[in-house]
Amino acid sequence: MAKVLVALDQGTTSSRAVVFDTAGKMLAAYGVEFPQIFPKPGWVEHDPHDILGSQVTALKEAVKRSGVAVEDIAAIGITNQRETTLLWDRETGECVHNAIVWQCRRTAHDVDKLVEQGWGPVIREKTGLVPDAYFSGTKLAWLLTRLNLHDRAEKGELCFGTVDSFLAWHLVSGHPHVTDATNAGRTMLFNLARQDWDDELLRLMDIPRACLPQVVDSSQVIGMLDESILGRAIPVAAMAGDQHASLFGQACLKPGMVKNTYGTGCFMLMNTGDQLIQSKNGLLSTMAWRIGDKPTYALEGSVFMGGATIQWLRDEMKMIATAAESEGIARTVENTGGVYLVPAFTGLGAPWWDQYSRGTLVGMTRGTGRAHVVRAALEAIAYQSADLMEAMVQDCGFVPTQLQVDGGASANAFLMQFQADMINVPVVRPQVMETTALGAALLAGLAVGIYASVEETAQAWQRDAAFAPDMDEYQRKNLLAGWHKAVGRAKDWVEH
Ligand code: ADP
Repeated sequence: MAKVLVALDQGTTSSRAVVFDTAGKMLAAYGVEFPQIFPKPGWVEHDPHDILGSQVTALKEAVKRSGVAVEDIAAIGITNQRETTLLWDRETGECVHNAIVWQCRRTAHDVDKLVEQGWGPVIREKTGLVPDAYFSGTKLAWLLTRLNLHDRAEKGELCFGTVDSFLAWHLVSGHPHVTDATNAGRTMLFNLARQDWDDELLRLMDIPRACLPQVVDSSQVIGMLDESILGRAIPVAAMAGDQHASLFGQACLKPGMVKNTYGTGCFMLMNTGDQLIQSKNGLLSTMAWRIGDKPTYALEGSVFMGGATIQWLRDEMKMIATAAESEGIARTVENTGGVYLVPAFTGLGAPWWDQYSRGTLVGMTRGTGRAHVVRAALEAIAYQSADLMEAMVQDCGFVPTQLQVDGGASANAFLMQFQADMINVPVVRPQVMETTALGAALLAGLAVGIYASVEETAQAWQRDAAFAPDMDEYQRKNLLAGWHKAVGRAKDWVEH
């Protein structure tokens, strides 16, 4: 039996484990959902026992279903929901509080204060991030302050970690307190250029270094899986945040390569190589990964309402019965008849960054029907992604040769064709859509020598479908102009 690789994919709503052969073929996958905890409006937590328990169950079940012998598992890689913050006792491993999930807004005011004091540009320059409650820094500061734990943290009695770090501590023998550079880069405490925690930011948020994990490469053996879990010690050989793992799994290994994941939201990342680009267009700078102590950087942009726009059509508007049906309905009309939907339900992200914008449906006439609106909703996902791509082009100064796609909504061929038309660049979809898990598995395989080089991991990427741009420039520009006019109507809608 050839060797296999296992990815642990710890997500926001479920923990999954996926078994791959070394050619990147999926042999088995298993997922376990766990509860979301909403203690107050805008607050989101996870029970750390749920995170750990569901992940271990997923691992055991996926391995069982794959039929492979435990001896044949060459390595395990971890990928995870990013920014979610945990704090645990270094002796017992017990968390002092539930995990504070990335979506949680409890520290929004703390971030406002930092910005009012003029720290915005400093944070942006050092961490690549736009100051926001989303990132871990103020969440950790909240835990230390509200639970009165500064002294204990100072004495080294507590461990902070994002989910990668938490899982490594609990699953690996000897309890290493580590995090990888991609996850560190989402804390608002990590200096991207220096590849170290930033003392000035630690002072600013009053966080003792003693509670922070050691930052390691994304592809490196951090220790052996505790024998009690699968009955055998197996190297745990990679950790990377989900979007970074997906960039790797999409084989976007060279500078200028871009991927977009069409899930609930959309996440677009461009590999910028050893260049740490400071965006002038509202994108984030982030790690792609760190391998052999060498950082590879990326630009990142996200769309809040991606596939969620289609869920809204289905659940709230009752215009479609299933997400998949949207494709056939959109194709029953030639175009939207001038209708644009701007799904700014929770504001607009990059490159607009307007939290006061709201959802807008414009350009309707007496002849507008359901199919026009459904089509406009799908087109809106592509327009928003095209805006991200344009911001990346502006920042890096060249046009990528293709866009690699994955995620649930990338199954929609109408959407993918319209996407290619709007960015005027081919859109390419891989056979293995589980690019996040695949990326973690490949990073782990690289660390244990299954692949001789980063480049060799690209063999696991196989093309499923490609969509070539097929629209004349005049029409493309016209449609984009209409979209931007519609965005103008959605902006600055609610009073503030
Ligand atoms: P997540 O990982 O964020 O849960 P997935 O990658 O599973 O998301 O994708 C699910 C999203 O994709 C949903 O928001 C759904 O509405 C959308 N979606 C799924 N299939 C299609 C389709 N054929 N056309 C358009 N949207 C789709």
